[in-house]
Amino acid sequence: MSNNKQDAIVTCNDCFAEFLLPKLKRTVLKDLVYKFYFYCPDCNHEYVSYYTNQKIRRDIKRQEKRWKEYRNTMTEEVQREMLAKINREDKLIKREMDALMERITYS
Ligand SMILES: [Zn+2]
Repeated sequence: MSNNKQDAIVTCNDCFAEFLLPKLKRTVLKDLVYKFYFYCPDCNHEYVSYYTNQKIRRDIKRQEKRWKEYRNTMTEEVQREMLAKINREDKLIKREMDALMERITYS
């Protein structure tokens, strides 16, 4: 699956159809893991975009709160610190999502 982020056009690995990334579907799995996925409109091949667990969702919520604070912060220095923190947290969340994806895919 190749993904051009600019216009979110994806190419199916199976039938090579090109299509706009559809709105993701969500299914709740064991242990409240959410699976976000979509189907190729041509051949119905399923693609999983990502999984989240409760901790990841909580961390994402906290990030949203940080962004809000960031926008309401007046001084540049504090903003810079906050942005660094947000970026650090983003990396941690990404790492956890990758680990979760791996755990589910290879279990
Ligand atoms: Zn396809």
